[in-house]
Amino acid sequence: MTTDSHSDELRDARRIVVKVGSSLVTNEGRGLDEAAIGEWCRQMSQLVRDGRELIMVSSGAIAEGMKRLGWATRPHEIHELQAAAAVGQMGLAQMYETKLREHGLGSAQVLLTHADLADRERYLNARSTLLTLIKLGVVPVINENDTVVNDEIKFGDNDTLGALVANLVEADVLVILTDQKGLYTADPRKDSSAQLVRRAKSGDPTLEAMAGGAGSSLGRGGMLTKILAAKRAAGSGASTAIAWGREPDALLRLARGHVVGTLLVAQTQKTQARKQWMSDHLQLRGAVSVDLGAATKLRAEGKSLLPIGMTAVEGDFSRGDVIAVRDADGGEIARGLANYASVEARLICRKPSSEIEKLLGYVAEPEMVHRDNMVLSR
Ligand code: GLU
Repeated sequence: MTTDSHSDELRDARRIVVKVGSSLVTNEGRGLDEAAIGEWCRQMSQLVRDGRELIMVSSGAIAEGMKRLGWATRPHEIHELQAAAAVGQMGLAQMYETKLREHGLGSAQVLLTHADLADRERYLNARSTLLTLIKLGVVPVINENDTVVNDEIKFGDNDTLGALVANLVEADVLVILTDQKGLYTADPRKDSSAQLVRRAKSGDPTLEAMAGGAGSSLGRGGMLTKILAAKRAAGSGASTAIAWGREPDALLRLARGHVVGTLLVAQTQKTQARKQWMSDHLQLRGAVSVDLGAATKLRAEGKSLLPIGMTAVEGDFSRGDVIAVRDADGGEIARGLANYASVEARLICRKPSSEIEKLLGYVAEPEMVHRDNMVLSR
């Protein structure tokens, strides 16, 4: 066992994304490792009872599918890998369902693609679903939707997906459980002087050199994809822990603040990161004007914007687009992600949220812009 050091980032983490790779989940491809999955589920249930919010990103579908299909070696053709993933995903979901239930937790299967998270509307839908699941105390178990895409099959073994999910739900910490003890200063199999890195800054370029060095390929799920995932997770303020998945009580010890393996600390705070993200990456597609009451609620109380407070809708925008919220004088109060498209917003403008269903035929959310998806302008 490695010596622990302490981290406030880990101890104070409320929302945690745990990513496990294929070789761990399937015990080097020998089929789903029931004991290991049971162990992580036990630890996660304890953390949920302690008030933490847990999201699992698990690979292993291809390896399990190969076993079920009687394939001894990993096929080369992508469509065969995708078929194996479709077969194996049944077993993966079943295993997590059984193990989480044994520990009194519900589970939910969520299959996502990178493109889903790049699309504003799907981003918002995935975010709302995941946040609803964790509020219900259910653990989402996420994998790449391997039938329709193959990014992780080719490169990542879900490392990138883990980071994208951490961005999506604004996790405090991404835990990458792997078959190595963490990040070493050099490859420990080749260099006996290699040292385990305990703590470093996410995005530090020297880490990339340690993880692979110049000329190393961006292979499936190696240390380099983990370092790049940590950098990406840090974009929304999440720190990343890279730890050995068989380390006893790894998740519980991490959550108590012990640095197990390597901790890569995000350099930006979550709120600052969100603000940056809104202003950097997203184009303004429209605006809504609000009355004095709504303006005060937003500015002074940090509340969400309800349709009843809106007085006018400008522009042509879709659900998930960024819109400006303006006061009666045209001054910008905030920017945020619209829950309703402009055509819908015009119909629900000035109306109480209880009437949304009658007016539109469905309800996405009671708010026009939720405060979690809004950044106040100065
Ligand atoms: N999504 C894939 C799986 O769960 C990625 C892992 C891989 O390429 O083996 O199996």
